[in-house]
Amino acid sequence: MILSRMTNIKPEFVEFVPTALEPGVLYISRRYKTASHLCVCGCGNRVVTPLNPSAWRIIERNGTVSLFPSIGSFDLPCESHYWIRDNKIAWAAKLSERQIAEVRERDSRDHDALFSATRLSIWQRLFRWIKGWF
Ligand SMILES: [Zn+2]
Repeated sequence: MILSRMTNIKPEFVEFVPTALEPGVLYISRRYKTASHLCVCGCGNRVVTPLNPSAWRIIERNGTVSLFPSIGSFDLPCESHYWIRDNKIAWAAKLSERQIAEVRERDSRDHDALFSATRLSIWQRLFRWIKGWF
């Protein structure tokens, strides 16, 4: 199956989020403090993002919306992870072999420097980096 990833999403302010969602639309209900959209990877799964301080928040700027924090649908088969920023989709990169190698190289370069006593292991660094996505 070929999925077409979306690059943009359009906000639509509604009172009730409809049962059938259009792809590429972020439905936002201020009244019910929730937003919904179809997963932007194209898999068609509905992603619900409650809007409250312990979940997500919407930031409006010049007619565009951003949703914070990122959306990590790790319970969906696609495991999509992306941000919605100013109506645009920013995909989170999966860790590639090369990225891991780069972190590892930086780590060894630092070895004799300032952090030699306290430097973090590569796994701690990766963990912090991944945590920064949320
Ligand atoms: Zn998906």
